[in-house]
Amino acid sequence: MELAINPSKIISTLCYSIFRLEPYTSCSFSCSYCYARWYRKESLGINPKVIGIFSKVAKKIDMRIAFRLATLSDPLQDLEEIAKVSLKLMRIAEENAVPIILNTKSDRISKSP
Ligand code: SF4
Repeated sequence: MELAINPSKIISTLCYSIFRLEPYTSCSFSCSYCYARWYRKESLGINPKVIGIFSKVAKKIDMRIAFRLATLSDPLQDLEEIAKVSLKLMRIAEENAVPIILNTKSDRISKSP
């Protein structure tokens, strides 16, 4: 996965989004049906660019277009407990009134950060 923020090359009619945020390089949930495994790295880590780039973009973007968090991994997977990259992205979004579409199967969505 090379890019942290990028227009989606393929826009699915089922999950329409133009911009995406990818906090992690892979996904520890490893669902057997996951299509994203063909598009991401096998090794799990933090995408080092995403916070800095999104911080700059969020301040400048005029249109209030939603960013999808995330498309190739679960943003609230186990690594989020330590790394908090998704939380930082959500805080940047909130500070700049940028809408976020968060996709997760994690119960961390119901817990306080
Ligand atoms: S949680 Fe989502 S991104 Fe992660 S392996 Fe499952 S389907 Fe793929």
